[in-house]
Amino acid sequence: MACGLRIISLMLLSISIDALPTYHLNQSCPYQSQCDPSINWQHIRRLESYVRRDVDPCVDFYAYACGNWRRIHGEGGTATTMSEAQINQRFEDLFLRLLQDPLAQEHGYPMQQKLLTHYQSCTALTSPNLRRYLQLLPPLPPLNASHWMELVSILGRYGYHDHFVQIEVRHHNISQHMIFIQPHNHNQNLDLTREIYDALPHNGVGFAQLKEMFSVLESHLNRLAKPNITDDSFHNLTLEQIRRRVPELDWLGALKRQLNRSSVNADHSFQVDELSAIRQVILYLNRQDRRLLNLYSLARFLSHLLQLPHNPLESLSSALVSSKSLSIACIRHMRRTLYLPMIYAYERVYYAQQRPSDERVIHSVFTELKDQLVQTLDQNNFNLDRGLVKALQTKVLGMRLNVGNVPRNVTEDFFWATDRNWKVGHDFHENHLNSLLYYYSLTAELEGNPDATEKAIWYSFNNHSPDLTDNIDATPYFYCLGNIIIIPYSYAQLPFYHSELWPAMLYGDLANTLGHEMLHAFDTDLVDYDVQGNMRDYSEQLQQQPLYVEAVKCLNDSSVVLNERTSDVSGSRLAFRTYMKDTQSWQSNGRYYFLQFSHFFCGDEGDRYHDMGSTRLNYALSQMPEFATYFHCARGTPMNSAKQCQFW
Ligand SMILES: [Zn+2]
Repeated sequence: MACGLRIISLMLLSISIDALPTYHLNQSCPYQSQCDPSINWQHIRRLESYVRRDVDPCVDFYAYACGNWRRIHGEGGTATTMSEAQINQRFEDLFLRLLQDPLAQEHGYPMQQKLLTHYQSCTALTSPNLRRYLQLLPPLPPLNASHWMELVSILGRYGYHDHFVQIEVRHHNISQHMIFIQPHNHNQNLDLTREIYDALPHNGVGFAQLKEMFSVLESHLNRLAKPNITDDSFHNLTLEQIRRRVPELDWLGALKRQLNRSSVNADHSFQVDELSAIRQVILYLNRQDRRLLNLYSLARFLSHLLQLPHNPLESLSSALVSSKSLSIACIRHMRRTLYLPMIYAYERVYYAQQRPSDERVIHSVFTELKDQLVQTLDQNNFNLDRGLVKALQTKVLGMRLNVGNVPRNVTEDFFWATDRNWKVGHDFHENHLNSLLYYYSLTAELEGNPDATEKAIWYSFNNHSPDLTDNIDATPYFYCLGNIIIIPYSYAQLPFYHSELWPAMLYGDLANTLGHEMLHAFDTDLVDYDVQGNMRDYSEQLQQQPLYVEAVKCLNDSSVVLNERTSDVSGSRLAFRTYMKDTQSWQSNGRYYFLQFSHFFCGDEGDRYHDMGSTRLNYALSQMPEFATYFHCARGTPMNSAKQCQFW
């Protein structure tokens, strides 16, 4: 099957480009001294191979530009998933090479030995051993004697915080972490599986009986923790205020244990939600059987570990795994749980030599887009208050970009220091827990760290947490708390981008993608965050402007994914305005600009946040009159009949 498909794809790739309108293609190199023509021609052949010439681009541009995608790549794949797979493969190549070559120079890089040991312990897994996780926790007094909060705060060190009273260190704004305190999470219930039950020290209490006892406990907690719907915000309270209002818990002891601190000042400030519900939960728990509460905590902890994205134990228990698929599962797990060491390894081994030219090109296009967006805001099409326009412009000008999502302006010492804070052994379960301890103790330290130089490093990127789900960082994204656009390594390569691409193809994806992410800063949810990542009342102010309300309504008439749609439409208009400063070359460059833009959407089935690729692409282009002009789409054809919605 694969062979047959490959022949088709080779034939398609060899389409002659002489027949195409490429004579006046702008072959200049914005921001580079030279662009290798072979990279560009090869890429053009690739774009052309997906085009179905029997489809009218004015009827369905997706079917035209992506028409051969499935035939070439099969079901279920997009350029993004393929690009991700390439990154995973490079990690595997690196680890296998280092295991075979003890003299390779990469062995001497910070954290590399520990990564390799972790990888080996993971690929050596044969069966899950959940009890081992529990044996590795710090020693506790007997379960029937220790107060429930002792165990909960120990589990908190590993980043687990979902039940009873939740204490969690979180990113708060562009330069700050804070401790958030919330009542029991009533949205999550334990699914006590046999596997978890068998790992617990249940002292002979039967499976069904324990399950029933947990479920009664949960129903009481869920009732007590129900939120007060009129108030969905956190309140800033000091430790002293919390202790005064809820004296029934040893707050100081819990915080010191979880955050590994010798003291916490009485005036230390916290973000607290529903303190009265928290008190009710505590009063209830203080009267319950300690052993039952502690068993419940252990069960919840195990369930949490199993549900962390890409825990390889899950793939072991679900089916027979080959060593290849376990190896890739381990790499995906490590990219989650050991985020910083893994990006450092990728940077040193693969990306560093490419970085200077990428930085030059990507940051230059980003600056052009920012200037253009600031100008657009200046036109003030929604008749906004001048102060609001100024605040939004400040947000655009302060927006940052991080290619590869790496800490900025650091020496290798920084990574050696990180290396020293992280332990590895030879057992996977131990290494998994150590990786969590390492991440969450760094986060806890950051919350209490007043050193401005160190903070500047930690806030220059988004140190992804081990529980981050995949859909967030597969493609570039706007991170509101840091006012920063993160470009993952999987995007900084072909087919999306190359520093030597000619303008039509460089802007066709890069400017559209950056434009899309920049406009997320203005979508109906994230517009409220200011330049410093603090919440403001901008959307309330916007809602008072009839022109703005009208614009949102126009885009919202058929879409459940409004904020993606606003970013698609306004982002691609912004990209186009930025690219098309030189209208002269438009006729010979439009084709590759639009084909490159389309490429990102080919094969995309959509998800709960995004419409299907075909819907997104066709909608965005039908909102762009220049598209219809370029392809000579008559008024009334599907790509030239949409009501034009005026947004940002
Ligand atoms: Zn988006």
